[in-house]
Amino acid sequence: MNAKLSLIELPQQQFLFIDDGRLQEAPTVRLLLRLLPPAGVGDDCNALLGRFLEDAETYALPVVDADQRPVALVDRKNFVEFFSKPYCRELFGRRRIRDLLDHHLFQDEAPIIVEESCNVEDVANIIIHAGMQHMATGFIICRAGHYLGIANGRDLLNVITQHNQAKLYYHAHYDSLTGLPNRVLFSDRLAQACREADRSGRRVALLFIDVDRFKGINDSFGHNFGDAVLREVAHRIKQLSRCADTTARLGGDEFVILMEDVESEEHVDALAQRVVIAMQEPVEVLGHTLVVTISVGSAIYPTDDAAPSPLLAKADAAMYSAKATGRNTFRKYSSDTAIYDPESKLLENDLRRAIENDELTLHFQPQVELASGRLCGVETLVRWRHPERGLVSPGQFIPVAEQSGLIVPLGAWVLRNALGHFCTCQNPGLSALRVSVNISPLQFQQPDFPEFVRACLAEVCFDPQRLELELTETLLMRDVRGVMDTLMEIRRLGVKLAIDDFGTGFSSLSYLSRFPIDRLKIDQSFVRDIRHSSSNTSIVRAIVALARSLSLDIVAEGIETVEEKSLLEELDCSKGQGFLFARPMPAEQLGDWIAARQSPA
Ligand code: C2E
Ligand code: MG
Ligand code: MG
Repeated sequence: MNAKLSLIELPQQQFLFIDDGRLQEAPTVRLLLRLLPPAGVGDDCNALLGRFLEDAETYALPVVDADQRPVALVDRKNFVEFFSKPYCRELFGRRRIRDLLDHHLFQDEAPIIVEESCNVEDVANIIIHAGMQHMATGFIICRAGHYLGIANGRDLLNVITQHNQAKLYYHAHYDSLTGLPNRVLFSDRLAQACREADRSGRRVALLFIDVDRFKGINDSFGHNFGDAVLREVAHRIKQLSRCADTTARLGGDEFVILMEDVESEEHVDALAQRVVIAMQEPVEVLGHTLVVTISVGSAIYPTDDAAPSPLLAKADAAMYSAKATGRNTFRKYSSDTAIYDPESKLLENDLRRAIENDELTLHFQPQVELASGRLCGVETLVRWRHPERGLVSPGQFIPVAEQSGLIVPLGAWVLRNALGHFCTCQNPGLSALRVSVNISPLQFQQPDFPEFVRACLAEVCFDPQRLELELTETLLMRDVRGVMDTLMEIRRLGVKLAIDDFGTGFSSLSYLSRFPIDRLKIDQSFVRDIRHSSSNTSIVRAIVALARSLSLDIVAEGIETVEEKSLLEELDCSKGQGFLFARPMPAEQLGDWIAARQSPA
């Protein structure tokens, strides 16, 4: 504002306050200061000021700009300027401090004179030490002994407050580790972007990014290292995103890119791919070099969801599906992506802890020959003794473990402990039993899985022929080439392989004949109601015939009644497992169960 300034006379003893940028008269309030924009100085300013100084009767003079807006106030004792910045005006011209003091303005109290380079906190300290009176009367700012302006204490307070508010705002909206917007600011921008998209008809995309195995990095190298890795991840992501995008850290190792004005899904996919690839470059942190990969999931507004918060959940779900397919990759949300609800998230945290704290335990369910009732093996089934929730069933936590990748350490724990329970040295009575262990697809796909199995067997000198791994049909159909190689490696160890829940997946019969499989486990849904459902009877008959033609062994799961058992026998199914024979039980009870069956009584 280049408005011309003028001093106007004020009737004696009149009090003023300034509100909303305008001078107001008030009988009791002496001055209420507000910050106003800085203004230039008019030529006649000094002359008027001179007149005021000579006229002892005039109490005060407001200084107003050409729009009659007050920018300063001169009174008998104090000169007060209103600034948006205290250092920016020159009402007195570039006079020297000494000349000003000669002006008799400051006869009663020695003013505080501070150098322009002093920051507001320093000035505040100076004022506090001087006894605070200058909070009301103001202090002089100078540059190399020359007057620059008078700052009022209350202006200073405002500046400090604004400064602190800015700091507070920063802390509330930005992540201190990476400097990226945090969840609060991100949520705000997402909501705003969605509103804007509603108006413009454009789309908004979210890329949900999670660092793979970050916990392992933190545990192995320490938290400082983990922090440095997160900063590097943040840096790489930020560099790839456009200026208009918001890159935020949601917490932990989770990041998100908010893309506004999305023209096509290809742009979203391309950015996601670039982010995944950019992370594959080795990271150099605190003297170490390592490769840190990320998993990315995307969701698009309003196509995938027309509300911001579920949209984030969907991008998160897509990210988990990227993790489930082996990490270091990108997945889009689609209607068949499993949604990862907050309850699962809680469960995931608890489960992570459970694996470390040994809260997991194993139960074993006998498998018997239907004709003789002879025990022929046990299936290992994991249980979780949750400190508050009690015994959590695998149906609840295995999907969470699979989606979060925790199934890998969990499955490793199960295999190692199952073998430990049944190794000859520990339990001679159970040493001849065949032990089945369920293996999840992600666990199976670990590059070192066959080697891990070999090492587990070697650790406790477990006969590989007695171990059977239960795999799912969907795993076998996923990546036939890769799966075949792993199956062959495991087979070479001497370990047996079974297809679990057979009949529920979509096995291709031609592949089935080529896989080195030993056994099919008929899913319990076909056993259920087999007496009353002719279609179930036909399916079981077909599976038994198929197994026979491929020379595969067969076990029926979930046999609960004598009728079911009899019918299965009629259908030529030789082995079974189910509550009719025994429920899954801890290893200690299994010995008693076997002993009770063997006793003549
Ligand atoms: P699954 O491998 O098909 O295991 C059989 C499930 O059927 C077990 O449930 C068992 O308790 C239950 N069951 C056995 N007989 C009967 C019966 O007569 N009637 C009924 N209604 N149910 C019967 P559980 O222990 O709850 O395990 C559920 C699933 O969780 C397992 O299905 C398996 O897919 C998974 N799971 C369990 N332990 C592990 C593990 O260590 N690793 C992996 N990856 N998955 C596991
Ligand atoms: Mg099983
Ligand atoms: Mg099963």
